[in-house]
Amino acid sequence: MKDTYLHKGLRKKLVRTLQSKGIKDKRVLDAIFSLPRHFFLDNAFEEHAYEDKAFPIGNKQTISQPYTVAYQTEMLEVKKRDKILEIGTGSGYQAGILALLGARVFTIERQEDLYHKTKKLLEQVGLERIRMYYKDGFKGVPEFAPFDGIIITAGADKFPDKLFQQLKVGGKMVIPFGENEKKKMLCFTKTEEGKMEVLKEGGIFRFVPFLEGVNESEK
Ligand code: SAH
Repeated sequence: MKDTYLHKGLRKKLVRTLQSKGIKDKRVLDAIFSLPRHFFLDNAFEEHAYEDKAFPIGNKQTISQPYTVAYQTEMLEVKKRDKILEIGTGSGYQAGILALLGARVFTIERQEDLYHKTKKLLEQVGLERIRMYYKDGFKGVPEFAPFDGIIITAGADKFPDKLFQQLKVGGKMVIPFGENEKKKMLCFTKTEEGKMEVLKEGGIFRFVPFLEGVNESEK
């Protein structure tokens, strides 16, 4: 896989687009400049990799739009060495951004095919330290809890209580939530008493659905 000056130039432009849309966190913008998004897309979409758009990645799933990735990551306020749990590995791009910010990343995917494809890719691009799980994200990874941050990259219409239990006191959970297709980006924290508190309410986004259970590959 090659990363050329042309790709870097396109990434610089993408970073400027994200800034013009309101993304401010320099570390998030630097991570987006550093990580070649075209590695995470099928060849057919390579020339579009630096447009601020979502694209299909197989199994009816999509790689999130760069603006969405930047927005959710900014909201999560990741610090170096933070233990972060991502739900919805998909292409692995969001997990890669979190790893570049110095987080210890745990990520769950419910589609078996995508899980295998992305696992191989993350190894090829030197991101093998990201810990991937093929399971139902609603269950989380209790053996590594509590997490400093939890980021859900699929649209939820049901609140994942088990995930909230795996959040540290003072940690952050970023979740696109809502009853219809339009989800509101919310950031919750956990109080000393273990209660949920809304820290921030953000904009409206569209996501593929956060579904319960796993989906085995069709063989
Ligand atoms: N973060 C991804 C976005 C992928 S789209 C990226 O950067 O490319 C959302 C992903 O969430 C899909 O791959 C979908 O299969 C997955 N998903 C949906 N419900 C899930 C669940 N219960 N557990 C784990 N993954 C889930």
